[in-house]
Amino acid sequence: MTRLILATRNPGKLVELQEILAAAALAHELVGADQYPEIPDVKETGVTFAENALLKAHALAQATGLPAVADDSGLSVDVLGGAPGIFSARWSGRHGDDRANLDLLLAQLSDIDAPHRAAHFTCAAALALPDGTERVVEGRLTGTLRHAPEGSNGFGYDPIFQPDGDDRTTAELSPAEKNAISHRGKAFRALVPVLRELLPAAP
Ligand code: IMP
Repeated sequence: MTRLILATRNPGKLVELQEILAAAALAHELVGADQYPEIPDVKETGVTFAENALLKAHALAQATGLPAVADDSGLSVDVLGGAPGIFSARWSGRHGDDRANLDLLLAQLSDIDAPHRAAHFTCAAALALPDGTERVVEGRLTGTLRHAPEGSNGFGYDPIFQPDGDDRTTAELSPAEKNAISHRGKAFRALVPVLRELLPAAP
């Protein structure tokens, strides 16, 4: 069976993406990049989520000779002109330190009141084929930022992000509830018809 590589080494994310992409009924086995430990992580030098997702997908497709899917996501705060944006994972200067990133953002917004606390998550999901063919789609979740963290599900900025139309933070939603509305869920569901178009279907 031909493989389709998903550019994540995070087992939780891999299961989530496998569930969404199962809807595409592809004749491909979905494997994580952890199956290819010899491939180094690519430098995210793009200036948009889409550019970074494409960089990662192309790097994997070139290194393996297989179709590859990658995503890039982050939080954009209106009053900060879209920051942290592509720097979401390292906003505090420490890559992947979710708590430090969230604390710094809260401190930066401490004087900003409710009407000006709008923000959105974006996820870009990209497909690259070994021949250089590429597609990228995006999903977005809009909301507002709380003044204090609430909830223990999810990761990153979830404890301070309240999606529009809900009175809970995304850290108070179940994984299924978050997936149904999230930027990542939307982007990967939008990728399903793209995969169906560019990859052979199951017999
Ligand atoms: P990644 O590109 O999915 O690794 O996300 C980059 C960074 O954006 C993460 O480290 C988080 O800080 C933030 N982020 C992306 N998606 C989410 C989310 O669903 N909830 C909370 N934070 C997120």
